[in-house]
Order: sequence, then structure tokens, then C-alpha cells
Amino acid sequence: MILSNEEVVAHSGALMHTYGRWPVAMVRGEGVWLWDADGNQYLDFAAGIAVTILGHSHPAVAEAIADQARTLLHCSNLFYIPQQVELANWLVNHSALDQVFFCNSGTEASEAAIKLARRWAYHNGVPERSTVITLEHSFHGRTLGALTATAQPKYQEGFGPLLGGVRHVPVGDVKALEEALDGTVCAVMMEMVQGEGGVMPVPTDYVQEVRALCDRRNVLLVIDEVQTGMGRTGTFFAYEQFGVEPDICTLAKGLANGVPVGAVLAKRPVAEAFVPGSHGSTFGGNPLAMRAALATVEVVEKERLWEKAARRGAYLRGRLANALGNHPHFREIRGMGLMIGVVLDEGASQVAEACLKRGLLVTVAGGNTVRLLPPLIVEEPEIDMAVERLSAAMHDVFGRE
Ligand SMILES: *Cc1c(COP(=O)(O)O)cnc(C)c1O
Repeated sequence: MILSNEEVVAHSGALMHTYGRWPVAMVRGEGVWLWDADGNQYLDFAAGIAVTILGHSHPAVAEAIADQARTLLHCSNLFYIPQQVELANWLVNHSALDQVFFCNSGTEASEAAIKLARRWAYHNGVPERSTVITLEHSFHGRTLGALTATAQPKYQEGFGPLLGGVRHVPVGDVKALEEALDGTVCAVMMEMVQGEGGVMPVPTDYVQEVRALCDRRNVLLVIDEVQTGMGRTGTFFAYEQFGVEPDICTLAKGLANGVPVGAVLAKRPVAEAFVPGSHGSTFGGNPLAMRAALATVEVVEKERLWEKAARRGAYLRGRLANALGNHPHFREIRGMGLMIGVVLDEGASQVAEACLKRGLLVTVAGGNTVRLLPPLIVEEPEIDMAVERLSAAMHDVFGRE
């Protein structure tokens, strides 16, 4: 049964309306391209939301998934899972961290990171250190713990009471952080580039001050790399460009090119606070997700996709500045690597809709930011095409001002 876009939308009443969806049903993807149920073709500069870093239907990932599905799809964590061991070793060898816990999503990774930070304090005989400090405009996920950590009222509205033990501070304000870092704090948790918040890189000197303060006060630094990790910003982890190392770090979105997976990495003395029974997941680290992730990281490494993200990101920014720099509604370009925000003074959602109609997929982030998150395999002609479609969409919305 092949349904059209319209028919799929018409039959969708059994779904909870948790998303503001475009009236388009995607049915197939290849590389940077997606096709909807009516056969329309789109240039995908959203990549899910920073998920399909190798593009759609990557043959190495598809083959790994098919092979693993035929061999062993699931096995509980009461046993060792070879692919889990292999992926943990890969991540440890490519990061500043020593041990890994696998879960199934970004929000679960945030939850595990918060639990680990608290457990570390408990393990060290200071259980009163249970508070986690996060930054204004942050996004750490939608489950109750991660939602409490997320310092954006629009995500929290109507879900109170939220959990305790979280304090928010303004980005860049060292004094405010110093005051918030009292004897009840176990960790500071932050993104290096606030993605959902509007593609806002956190200032490097501030990140370094946070690291130094954490060291002085014996507080953990948790870096949320759910969106920025996997080469997206031009290095495998974004933290590499800020001159700091986290004590705990999370990954998810791009890790398995679309198969749900999340990971928490930690320095050994921190990770040791988790003992058998203290945390777990039925599906976390299952053979299918691990195989998909292994196939993904192999391609990332072989093609050095973080370097490509840096180069293509610089090219994309240059093209955007050229095409939009003089537009009266254009404000600035923010971001790192292939995580780019085009900030407008108004109308970002309308521009995103006009892009869709012109066959370009983008997402909208905080403020009036059109966010571009193409797959890391994107080539220059595709970038040219995307910039052309985006500037045409700007004219559709604002006219030729
Ligand atoms: C998307 C995101 C999350 C949540 O990931 P989910 O897989 O949607 O739960 C957490 N942190 C950051 C920085 C994200 O961008």
C-alpha cells in the first residue's frame, strides 16, 4: 500500500500531537537526498536532527545492520556483547575518557551523566553534593531529569513540579558560577555549542574558566556532545577545540547514523562510582546498535570526516555570507564546522517552510535561527545548491527588498 503525503497526514489522528510536523511523509533517502511519498526530492541539510552524518542509506551501515539482524539482534547485558566491547574501546581510544556506558538516546545519556555525577559524590563520602549546574539556553533532553537540567522554560511549561537539584546560570558569567558553586554541587553540565538554544558557541575563555573552577572546587565538568560530537563541529568532540577535557561526556545523535543509541564516557575514577546494579538499560548497547555505530565510526575515521566538516563548514559559511550578507533581515552566521545557524531578525520558521517548498530541508533553533546540519559527507556542489535554495526562500518570504 503506497499512500500519498496527503493520505498519510489524513490518517495520522492516532498519533499524539507532540510535534509541529510539515505535511510531508518521507519514504526514502540516499546520501544527502530524501524523497517524500509524492516523489518530491529534497536536499537534506537537517540530517534528521544532526543524526545521519554519513548521509542516508550508507551501504556500510546498511550492510552491518542487515548482517547483525541475521546473526544476533538482541542479548541482555547479563552477558558480554563483543560489539559493545569493541565500540567502547574505539571511543576510549579517540577521547580523553576511559570508560563507557551505552544507552539508547541523548536524554538517557544526560540522565546517566547526572546519576553518575551524584553517585561519584556519594562514592566519595560527600552525598550532600547532589546539585548540577547547567547554563541558560541549554538543552539536555526531555525526560524529567534532563528536562530539569534544560534551562529553557518553553520545554518545561506544564510539566512541573520538576526535579530538584539543578541550578541554572547565565552563559559567560564567571561570577554567577562562582556563587552557584557551593558545597552542594557535584557537577557543571554544558554544551560547547548550544544547539537547540540557537547554535550558540559558548565562549572559549569561559569554558576554560569553568574547567579551572571545577578543578579548584572538586566539581565534575560534564560536556554534552549529543549534538556536537561525532565530528560535527570540525573535531571528533567539540571540547577538543576549547582546550579542556571533561570528566564526563555524552554522545548520541550521530553515533550510529540513525539507529537509536546513546553513550556516556567518563574518566576512570568517576566511572568507578558505578558498580554492578547501580545503573542499567534493557536495550542499551544491544548488538544491532553497536554494529551500526561501529560501521559509522569506521567510516568517520577512514574518511576523516571531522576534517571534512571543518573544511566544508568554512566553505558553507563563506557562501552564506556572500549570498545573504546584505539581506536586510540577515543578522549573523554562528556555529562551528557543519553546525551552522543563520540568524535572522524575524521569520525563521517561514524561511524554513519556503526552503521545504524549494526542496531544501533545514531546521529552526532558538530565537530566529535557521539551523543547517548537513551530513558530514556533503560536497561543494550540494552546498552551492543549498545556499541558492535558501537565498531564494529568503526572497519568497521577504520579497526582493
Ligand atoms: C538532542 C539533544 C539531546 C536529547 O537527545 P534525544 O536523543 O532527543 O533524547 C540532549 N542534548 C543535546 C545537546 C541535544 O542536542
